Amino acid sequence: MPNIYQQSPVNATDEGGKLFTADSAHVQQQFQFVLEDSPLAIYTCDKDGYLNFYNQSAVKLWGTMPILGKDLWCGSWKIYYPDGREMLLSECPMARTLREGRAMDNEEITIETPDHIFKRVLVSPRPIFDKENNLIGAHNTLIDISDKVLVESRQAVLSAIVESSDDAIISKDLSGTIISWNAGAQRMFGYTEQEILGKSITKLIPAARLKEEENILKQIRSGNKVDHFETIRVSKFGKDIPISITVSPVKDSYGNIIGASKIARDISEQIEAQNIIRENARNLELLNSIGKILLANLDVNTLLQQVTDATTKITGAAFGAFFYDSTNADEDAFLRYTLSGASREGFEKFKSSKEAGIFKQIFVEGKVIRIDDVTKEAPCKQLAGQDGLLPEHLRILSYLSIPVRSTAGMIIGTLIFAHPKAGVFKSEHEDMVGSIAAQAGIAIENSRLFEEVKALSSKKDEFIALASHELKTPLTTIKGYLQVISRKNQDSLSKMFVDKSLYQVQKLNTLISDLLDISKIEAGKLQFNLERFNLTIVLQEVLETFPYTNTSHEIIFDVNSEECLVLADKQRIEQVIINLLTNAIKYSPSADQVHVSIKNEGELVTVRIKDQGIGLKAEHLNKIFTRFYRAEGVGNVSGLGIGLHLTKEIVDRHNGHINVVSEYGKGSEFYFSLPRVNELS
Ligand code: ADP
Repeated sequence: MPNIYQQSPVNATDEGGKLFTADSAHVQQQFQFVLEDSPLAIYTCDKDGYLNFYNQSAVKLWGTMPILGKDLWCGSWKIYYPDGREMLLSECPMARTLREGRAMDNEEITIETPDHIFKRVLVSPRPIFDKENNLIGAHNTLIDISDKVLVESRQAVLSAIVESSDDAIISKDLSGTIISWNAGAQRMFGYTEQEILGKSITKLIPAARLKEEENILKQIRSGNKVDHFETIRVSKFGKDIPISITVSPVKDSYGNIIGASKIARDISEQIEAQNIIRENARNLELLNSIGKILLANLDVNTLLQQVTDATTKITGAAFGAFFYDSTNADEDAFLRYTLSGASREGFEKFKSSKEAGIFKQIFVEGKVIRIDDVTKEAPCKQLAGQDGLLPEHLRILSYLSIPVRSTAGMIIGTLIFAHPKAGVFKSEHEDMVGSIAAQAGIAIENSRLFEEVKALSSKKDEFIALASHELKTPLTTIKGYLQVISRKNQDSLSKMFVDKSLYQVQKLNTLISDLLDISKIEAGKLQFNLERFNLTIVLQEVLETFPYTNTSHEIIFDVNSEECLVLADKQRIEQVIINLLTNAIKYSPSADQVHVSIKNEGELVTVRIKDQGIGLKAEHLNKIFTRFYRAEGVGNVSGLGIGLHLTKEIVDRHNGHINVVSEYGKGSEFYFSLPRVNELS
């Protein structure tokens, strides 16, 4: 037992008789035990304020053990008013009760223990009187409300957080009825607390998404949390709000799920940011693809159309147009244009003088013009559709025009974009289209140059075709006369001259035929008469007749009795073999042999012609098959550079392929393959 028992207020009881009213000593003792053991802190003072009793709970509360008969009014180390000011002991509720002889109820004070623990306490001191109604002391009950205060202050903090949150914080019961609604929810959805409490949460859910709520409630009933669920809710004013919601089950003190708390965050800005990122990525992709188009395309019309399409897409315009050659002084109307997003009919009636008003600035002066609402700016009303520029339904408000200039700064054309909504075009659109326009200017110039070169080249082809045709006729006549003379008896000198002349005529004839073939290829008119034949035999025949005209080299045929069937134009394939053989001899002046072989190789038949001549450097290998190309170092070997081009065309058009392996100074091997056919196919 603590010494409290030794210090029990026997005198007070005896004197006052009010504290212990029972007669029996037994009851008195029991009563004393009750006081001692009470979970409430209880103490008493005599009329002068000296403590004469306190129980165990009071010691616990104070954190100290005051000295009975010596310490005054209160056992606390220090006491404070609820607002934090220190309270003099003489001002404590017990002191006041003794001074004023009246009871006090639930006075709130803060006490501090010697080890500086602060406790919120409710004190209720009551005076004690004797039979003659003289004040003989007072007793006091202290209730520690620190925990309650803590809970309350936590709750206050929580509700302050809930109230001040930008997020909507809502709670609902398991049937979906809203039971709490914070200021954030009001800001987000527009309903006041009064309007929405007791209503169903479905009020916020668009009809098409009602199923979501069923699923959420299902999750909640099974005790699960729904985390960062992105969806759309609708405000009081019918506006769709993209939100991210987190819904958690709310449990009662027994752990039963009784509802759900829901935190909704407006993610409009986030979605907008994502859209901007997506849009930027898309624009980058587009810019990239435009770059490629501009580099790869040499056809002006395709180029203009693709630039129009891509820039219309980038600006988000309802339609875009590219007027070009618009600075042509003789032309008053804009006749040449490409369109994107609008029909040509919509433009047919459009005829406006580019020398007037805003059109002069756009087309002649090449000004960049960006307008948010053309109807609001007097000089721009011209653009608003009155000139039959657009179909009725597409009257424009937003307008953007960007000039496309040549490298020399001349205006090639103008890109124009429009939209029926106001304020659609931003400065970034202006920048992006501006940079595309700069590239497009160069590309258009290039493609125009290319068109010019193409036109010149086709004139040249026409000339070659015509000239070779004109040459062929007199040559045929000369050849005829020479053949007649060669059949006549003549002296050996004359015969030699005639034969040499015939040989040269033959060479000239082949050259002219090749030139004619080339022009036929260019015009797509080279015809083939396909037949199935054994290429080995054709090769043998060519090789047998070849030595009569070429005596400088021995042609060694790697004899192969294999049947190598192909479906091809016999004469053209002969031409291929003769071309390759002639080259092998021509380009190996210091050698005296040419090796020829033929072989079935899987699905192909391959003919190889190998010389020990001048060979080719690696950088020439892939160019010698192009028209008129002659590798350097051919010296005084005559030629036009058309034989291999023709040869390759013939082989390619038989679905075959031709190639060369060569070592400079050592020799070359040309080989071509044709698809192999069998007897029955
Ligand atoms: P040409 O012989 O009339 O110049 P070709 O088209 O037959 O035209 O050949 C093109 C070029 O390829 C030749 O000018 C020559 O540089 C090179 N070439 C062709 N055949 C050989 C070969 N067998 N060895 C070395 N170079 C060759």
